[in-house]
Amino acid sequence: MLREKRRPVIAGNWKMNKTVPEATDLVRELREELAGLRERVEIIVAPSFPALQPVAKVLEESDLRLAAQNCHWAPSGAYTGEVSAPMLQAVGCHYVILGHSERRQYFGETDETVNKRAKAVVAARMIPILCVGETLAEREAEHTLVVVSRQLLAALQGFTGGQAEHFIVAYEPVWAIGTGRNATSEQAQEVHAHIREQLVMLFGREIGERIRIQYGGSVKVDNAAELLAQPDVDGALVGGASLKASEFSAIVRAAS
Ligand code: PEP
Repeated sequence: MLREKRRPVIAGNWKMNKTVPEATDLVRELREELAGLRERVEIIVAPSFPALQPVAKVLEESDLRLAAQNCHWAPSGAYTGEVSAPMLQAVGCHYVILGHSERRQYFGETDETVNKRAKAVVAARMIPILCVGETLAEREAEHTLVVVSRQLLAALQGFTGGQAEHFIVAYEPVWAIGTGRNATSEQAQEVHAHIREQLVMLFGREIGERIRIQYGGSVKVDNAAELLAQPDVDGALVGGASLKASEFSAIVRAAS
């Protein structure tokens, strides 16, 4: 019953791919391919920083949403090489992906800094997409649920239910990202149900049931429908398969 209230959300994380001309070509193709599907499914694209504004321009008068892949927690200042939340909001971003495992692994992202960035994103009137997920070693040690809870509770610290109800949580097992090895639908559902319980515990049933939880990790055309059919899988965060309009559109179709 409550699932009906959660509109599926499919996001493409382009990572460090696509020059500006390539990015604008891709989004033009997506605009065409996805016409007619956007009422049923919310669609988000997350290009690299230089491509955000040109892509936003192509997306004008379209309801595809724009996301950034990270941001700093300070609104401005002496942080060479960083980009702030107000800057992203000013170029048309609606969402910001935070705590992606590649940020945690290569750039020192911690649970604490994810929380600080999330506060900056909300202060700039955007919505965080909060990534959580265990490594292979953590899964094999049966620590998956503990790790995911720790990351989730830390990221959400200090938020009210009224703020968090718009957030998206992305469960992305690290061992499934870019490896071609996705979680089975049962594995995904088990963790998503656990995340849902934590959200209900934090914010109450109504809000906890309203927050959308995406699965990410080697989502492709052939596994999308089965993953998305799980009761607590409300969408997908797609990396590699979001770089081709035909593949990404097929995943969106599976969600619709
Ligand atoms: C990601 O980076 O968020 C991701 C899920 O990547 P891929 O789909 O390539 O595994």
